[in-house]
Amino acid sequence: MFETLTDRLGGILEKLTKRGALSESDVNEAMREVRRALLEADVALDVVKSFTDRVRVRAVGAEVLRSVTPGQMLIKIVHDELIKTLGSDAQAIDLDAPAPVAILMVGLQGSGKTTSTAKIARRLTERMKRKVLMASLDTRRPAAMEQLAVLGEQNGIATLPIVTGQQPVQIAKRAMEAARLGGFDVVLLDTAGRTTVDEALMAEVADVKKQVSPHEVLLVADALTGQDAVNTARAFEERVGITGIVLTRVDGDGRGGAALSMRHATGKPIKLLGTGEKADALEDFDPARVAGRILG
Ligand code: GDP
Repeated sequence: MFETLTDRLGGILEKLTKRGALSESDVNEAMREVRRALLEADVALDVVKSFTDRVRVRAVGAEVLRSVTPGQMLIKIVHDELIKTLGSDAQAIDLDAPAPVAILMVGLQGSGKTTSTAKIARRLTERMKRKVLMASLDTRRPAAMEQLAVLGEQNGIATLPIVTGQQPVQIAKRAMEAARLGGFDVVLLDTAGRTTVDEALMAEVADVKKQVSPHEVLLVADALTGQDAVNTARAFEERVGITGIVLTRVDGDGRGGAALSMRHATGKPIKLLGTGEKADALEDFDPARVAGRILG
């Protein structure tokens, strides 16, 4: 196993037995370790830089409390700044709009979009007691539509009947009408993905967004794809506009750096974490927990 950042900082700073203020050279030495640990955790370089700059400003000259060692003091500053960067509080999905509330799910193919759509539908049904309708707008991949229908059946969530030959905007319109007629509270629209961000994908998603005016546009991104996920998030934010992020495959990402980069790159909150393939493997995003994981 890697030596954790907490261990490393403790190691560097334990020789400073003197209590008092953190000196510039102590802090600089510690920042080199923080930088290395964040890069190893797959945090984007520009994020690492602005993060360590902020910590440095707060740490140099900071008075070390009597009850802690300089190492513990610095770890606390790093921890606090991590939470600030990740977003200080957990953000739930916002359903505060007239029904039916549309939620648009966007992202690349294979990011876990369809799985996350079903997970969210299940959560809104079970925990929030909402009546949820799911619809797949993936007109290029009939298998994706089928997959959503199967997930709907398995989890007891209604899905919009598949009609072949319709375009995504038409399907989205039909879903909203069906939701109004059927008294649904929430409509989850699972858009098509591509293997890379391209203009056709963005134009399609933008058209659907215009049609349904969704209350939430959730970008689904795979934590294991690191910097690619960050670039994808930035592209969707710029071209379509998102309201939040669902970070998937967090179960395989022991380092937790993607969350930090995503938040920094888009300014948008991470709302949920996908933690496995099963329909209930979805967690609320908890900044303190992710900060704890990055620190080790
Ligand atoms: P889509 O193409 O974006 O709709 O991706 P899918 O929802 O079909 O997911 C692709 C694969 O990733 C499937 O095998 C899912 O079971 C798996 N998957 C989705 N989310 C997670 C997650 O949070 N953790 C793990 N381990 N697997 C996931």
